[in-house]
Amino acid sequence: MDERTFGFRTRALHAGTPPDGETGARALPLHLSTSFVFDSTEHAAELFALRTYGNIYTRIGNPTVAAFEEKLASLEGGLGAVATASGLSAQLIAILSLAQNGDHLVASANLYGGTITQFGVTLRRMGIETTFVPGSDLDAVRGALRDNTKAVFTETIGNPKGNVADLAALAEIAHGAGVPLIVDNTFATPYLQRPLTFGADVVVHSTTKYVGGHSDVLGGFVATSNDELAATLKFHQYAIGAVPGPFDCYLLLRGLKTLGVRMDRHCANARAVAAFLVDHPSVEKVYYPGLADHPGYEVATAQMSDFGGMVSFTAKGGVDVARKVCESTSLFTLAESLGGVESLIEMPSAMTHASTAGSTLEPPVNLIRLSVGIEDIDDLLADLAHALSL
Ligand code: PLP
Repeated sequence: MDERTFGFRTRALHAGTPPDGETGARALPLHLSTSFVFDSTEHAAELFALRTYGNIYTRIGNPTVAAFEEKLASLEGGLGAVATASGLSAQLIAILSLAQNGDHLVASANLYGGTITQFGVTLRRMGIETTFVPGSDLDAVRGALRDNTKAVFTETIGNPKGNVADLAALAEIAHGAGVPLIVDNTFATPYLQRPLTFGADVVVHSTTKYVGGHSDVLGGFVATSNDELAATLKFHQYAIGAVPGPFDCYLLLRGLKTLGVRMDRHCANARAVAAFLVDHPSVEKVYYPGLADHPGYEVATAQMSDFGGMVSFTAKGGVDVARKVCESTSLFTLAESLGGVESLIEMPSAMTHASTAGSTLEPPVNLIRLSVGIEDIDDLLADLAHALSL
């Protein structure tokens, strides 16, 4: 049977993780070893010369990490994927594989706060300048391109307001300028949307979120459909050294097995939460790409199989009311991050996007972001109703 013809859920279980040939173990063995024994010095030289990056040393190649990379490449529909220590290191490896001192990037303004900091501070210090533009304003994206632009970067579903990137349109603009489109698909996950099929060249993820799914592992990955770039990514993965540990990959592989069923539930619960908030008198505006009045609804409908588990809304009454709501829920616990099975609540202007304070990239101060978990929906709605009634 050709594995590539299997459906997403089947590949999530089987791609890259057959029963162990040596022991028959059905679950993938965890290989913690950092060193792997060579038959001879010639064998070592051969592995390095071939650049196959097999089992040499765990920063370069490890069977558990490799299984995770193979499964992810399969799920994203890419030729190659490299696992990284975090979502931010995935982005860094992707960008440093394409740009260097003196180069320029065009990025959507609707991004995770840490990404804005990485672009605006870390990459800037390395001589890579970024122009931030509203990602849905295609003319602005086109207009920001320069001769030294090396990539266009966007989140497919923007953090924190759920802005939807039109992937085919952005890919056309980027390719027209001869540069790749890099997308962060963290909110959507490969289960709901596969950007490479819409023309994106590189997909990055924070696997800390839905891929891990249980709020207990930090990670990232980069996938691409470009053979040459896949080799460059692999080189920078081990040259930079921001690699995940084998146990991280073991947990992430375990998370991937249930990604589909978890996402179905996240999406159903988020839809119900969005509908509840739309009708609530204490709520000013709800941001969820699955609502027909969301500016990205049409594009999301065309690109995604469902709308994800992230819902944001502004509270009537301003920042103090928003603060009170965030501090009054009990099932939605007040914390950073997203994508775990337990629901979370946060205030982006004070937490995930605090680094944008005072800039044009700052989210509304009364914005609340929910990562809707997989609890019983009646309990989640009662929790929100209570907090909004105080
Ligand atoms: N991308 C998005 C959309 C995020 O929300 C985050 C973190 O919240 C990141 C990237 C960074 O991921 P990590 O914390 O794994 O570095």
